[in-house]
Amino acid sequence: FSRSDVHNFAAGPSPLPTPVLEEAAKGLLNYKGTGMGICELSHRSKEFEAIIFGAEANLRKLLSIPDNYSVLFAQGGATTQFSSTLLNILAYRRMQHKADTSYTPPPVDYVVTGTWSAKAHQEAQRLCMPPQPGAEPLAHPRIAATTKPTKYTTLPKADEYSFSPDAAMVYYCENETINGIEYPLDQSSPCAFPYDKIPEGVPLVGDYSSSFISRPIPHLERHAVIHAGVQKNLGPAGVTVIIVRNDYLVDTTEAMKLGGIPPVPIQNEYKILADNQSLYNTPPVFAIYVSALVLEYLLAKGGIENLEKTNREKARVLYETLEKAEAAGTVRMVVREKDARSWMNVVWEQVGEGANEKFLKGADGKGFRQLKGHRSVGGIRASLYNAVTVESVQGLSEYIDGFSA
Ligand code: PLP
Repeated sequence: FSRSDVHNFAAGPSPLPTPVLEEAAKGLLNYKGTGMGICELSHRSKEFEAIIFGAEANLRKLLSIPDNYSVLFAQGGATTQFSSTLLNILAYRRMQHKADTSYTPPPVDYVVTGTWSAKAHQEAQRLCMPPQPGAEPLAHPRIAATTKPTKYTTLPKADEYSFSPDAAMVYYCENETINGIEYPLDQSSPCAFPYDKIPEGVPLVGDYSSSFISRPIPHLERHAVIHAGVQKNLGPAGVTVIIVRNDYLVDTTEAMKLGGIPPVPIQNEYKILADNQSLYNTPPVFAIYVSALVLEYLLAKGGIENLEKTNREKARVLYETLEKAEAAGTVRMVVREKDARSWMNVVWEQVGEGANEKFLKGADGKGFRQLKGHRSVGGIRASLYNAVTVESVQGLSEYIDGFSA
């Protein structure tokens, strides 16, 4: 097969724009006439510094990130951020209560709307366990709202959230990759994230892994931290972007000395990453290089407005086709609430004995690849990340229209 024969709907790692990969292939062998490949150059070289600082500047431009936020490039994936967000924010909390000799473990609020926010909450429970029987826990993880009873096929409504006024943070996942659930961009929707209900001063943390740079981030300035593994919309796996407001860059060693905070591995500390401009240790050079090329490419194509427009259109085309098929009885939509349906990960089932398998086999023959649903949900999942074209989605829609089990 050639790339042009294939429409890649992978959930992650995901397709990248072909012109970017062609450029990256050249840079891998001989970066800008240095006679050395990009992975063979020091991360302290002027060439690599231009790449990483250029990527930061372009990301700031693309998402209009205010100056009082740092943009960090880290290793360890979004999974590492399940721990880092909690540890850094608790260290911040401890520093805020510096003079407090009777510091007590605070509540931390998780909004659980799918597999990934559930995992973040589980990690918080694990990290917060008392270090020995009878000792204080690090904090008290709570669930501020959850849609587990609907098997994550809906989003909570504003009155279903109960945030603790004294929470050390509120954590949520903007797009649940496995369940196909995403907070709507339209802030007047009953499913919209209730930014205005979060108690004033409580830091808000968002996992944006699978919707990052697919459209603008609503209320970016209300967030303390936004984190995103890049392997969906931005680049190859290996680098995670963290956007953190500068007041949350805390010396965790100082916080630990006050008591009530465990040692935080140095790699997890946001301040050390920020102080060293993400070059504290060897960064994932290739993943940053390709992400930098993708950012240049996306800005040249019209930036975030263009991405929003294209991604909106792709989602519209596919959902309209699927809803028509559902009305005809050949498809069952997994996400029951229209406003909660993800633009990025579209999940459904073909109706009938063996229909999903037959659908996938037929799709494969037509070049529509990596459509199998996640093992925990089953059925079909089409991921429509930035590098998936409107034409690919139209082709898939025609296939769905013509498919009979
Ligand atoms: N959060 C979300 C929303 C994800 O989609 C994923 C992975 O797909 C993760 C977290 C975990 O990311 P990683 O595999 O980079 O640790």
